[in-house]
Amino acid sequence: MATRSFDVDQFGTGAVLPVVTAPNPMLSTSCQPVSPTAAKTIQLAADLVATMAVSPGCVGLAANQLGADARVFSLDVTGHPKARTVHGALVLVNPEVVSASRKERAREGCMSVPDFTGDVRRASRLIIAGYLPGTGEPVEIETNAFEARAFLHELDHIDGLLFLDRVAGAHAIHPRQTYQ
Ligand SMILES: [Zn+2]
Repeated sequence: MATRSFDVDQFGTGAVLPVVTAPNPMLSTSCQPVSPTAAKTIQLAADLVATMAVSPGCVGLAANQLGADARVFSLDVTGHPKARTVHGALVLVNPEVVSASRKERAREGCMSVPDFTGDVRRASRLIIAGYLPGTGEPVEIETNAFEARAFLHELDHIDGLLFLDRVAGAHAIHPRQTYQ
């Protein structure tokens, strides 16, 4: 399937929910697959988009960061200076990596780890598949650079991993200077 944009406005009004922070056990939970067409999934998608929208500098949010055990995340790297390919705001359900290559190391942060950033090696070329909430339409997204990193960071979340689990060692963790 060709690259396309995703209309997240269909979800209506989501609730802005508190984002859980480490060491909350939800962040270590490997989340369960869910039905992309279930009302609960559509509400979760709306809540993710609404919470992301009011969080400065937030480029992605996973279900378990809002306390939900579901393989769902939102993403929006629009306007980020390190982004090349940009698909806009989207929510993906039951995502799977199709292919990932060209690892690069870069600094990243996380709303659930507010005091630190870390240097993490991740693929800079990525094809990821999943389902759109609501319609349940299967999609395959090809991306790169910062958006690929954001997808892989969110995918880690729903597998119960934080960027802190991916750094090479303590030398690769840095105190966060600003909250943007
Ligand atoms: Zn995160």
